[in-house]
Amino acid sequence: ENQNISDTREHHQLRAADAANLLHPWADLSALGDESAMVIKSAKGVHVYDSNGKQYLDAIGGMWCITLGYGNEELIEAMAQQAREMVYYTPFGDMSSSPAARLAKKLAELAPGDLNRAHFTTCGSTAIDSAVRTAHYYFAAQGRPEKRHVLSRRNAYHGSTYLAASLCGKLADRTLFHYEADFVHHLASPEYDPDIATESADERLSALLEDMESEINRIGAENIACFVAEPILASGGVLVPPEGYHKATLDLCHKYDILYISDEVVTAFGRLGHFFASEVHFDILPDMIVAAKGISSGYQPLGVVMISDRIIDSIKANAPEDNPVFSNGYTYSGHPVACATAIANINIMERDNICAHVQELGPYFLSELRKLSSSPIVYTVRGHHLMACVECWTGEEAGPTERNIALAQRVDQYCEEAGVLVRPYENLCIMSPPLIVDRDDVDRIVTVMGDAIKRAQRDLDMGELD
Ligand code: PLP
Repeated sequence: ENQNISDTREHHQLRAADAANLLHPWADLSALGDESAMVIKSAKGVHVYDSNGKQYLDAIGGMWCITLGYGNEELIEAMAQQAREMVYYTPFGDMSSSPAARLAKKLAELAPGDLNRAHFTTCGSTAIDSAVRTAHYYFAAQGRPEKRHVLSRRNAYHGSTYLAASLCGKLADRTLFHYEADFVHHLASPEYDPDIATESADERLSALLEDMESEINRIGAENIACFVAEPILASGGVLVPPEGYHKATLDLCHKYDILYISDEVVTAFGRLGHFFASEVHFDILPDMIVAAKGISSGYQPLGVVMISDRIIDSIKANAPEDNPVFSNGYTYSGHPVACATAIANINIMERDNICAHVQELGPYFLSELRKLSSSPIVYTVRGHHLMACVECWTGEEAGPTERNIALAQRVDQYCEEAGVLVRPYENLCIMSPPLIVDRDDVDRIVTVMGDAIKRAQRDLDMGELD
């Protein structure tokens, strides 16, 4: 009983400290200072536990990042061992560390084509930032500094540094901060869902390509450095572009000498059943691939830009003689503990055939989830392997309307009550469970989601959302 009292006291203290002193990423400022935060205190396998001891199946995988699950002793041991051996030394200039060098070699083996050069960063945002800066450097070194404009898409999410945030296209993410408008441009969002589309996939594809090419012509290809694109727009709502889109946009980039940067922060490291998805699933060999999250299974902050030999060779050959320095990187680029964790993560993934497991389980997860689309409050269910979303609607206007958002919040809330965490985002319930989920976990997620949808529908029918 004393333990219970002490746990309850700690729970209140944590909430109070959070309310008084913490500013969360994407904090709702209208609730700042409220003692409403959910405090996750411990975690094991696919489950997390709040400070009241309640267990939840984490169908979000932390934030798309926990792939091998929580409390993996081998990852923890790899972190501890590296911390004991050599926790940190500067990565700048010609200083190296064994984990960074070994991880770079392994990534070059895993990445497609000639993407053989790893530039490490601290997270996805800094990797996006670094990839765009690399494109700038590449053209500037060729004597073409005006080739610096960047193409992104509406609905894209690429992170939250100044540059990465400027690339984001979702209106909800663009608030009172300042965004780069001089050289960043947003193309049409490539979402396409055959179940709800008013046009065919071919028509949609043609419209997207026309939009892209006319934007290139408007800006002038001689001014454009790169196109940055998630293969599947993740936070934008798990938007899967129409078939052929990736290849056709890469072809346009080649035609106009624009570098293609594939943002695989979510899709790499197993979420779609492969270490990298760009080539295997979408038939493209980008000039750079950006990865983070699952690279360390979320155990350590780490990002990477994989850069093609062609770009590196050109940068090296054209770097100015008086200052041939690639002045980009961070104190914690290639942090030894993060890289050692990533190596252990990759080793476990290979040994335990995690990608094969996702290839088998992913289609089952989606086919079970798609059964929920028969509900009148489900607009659509979409996804790819272990990346999925249920889009809610009240039957009136589709999209992130106030009522649709309120409805989705009910679904999220009922899932949470039943012990499954899904990610509430506008009128979407997003799921990206750890890759180690099994059939029973998948069945539980789908059952709980189905029950939550029924309860939310009842609320809607009773007029409780009005
Ligand atoms: N790119 C994509 C596609 C993402 O989903 C995210 C984060 O969710 C980022 C970049 C930014 O990564 P980070 O939050 O690690 O900076």
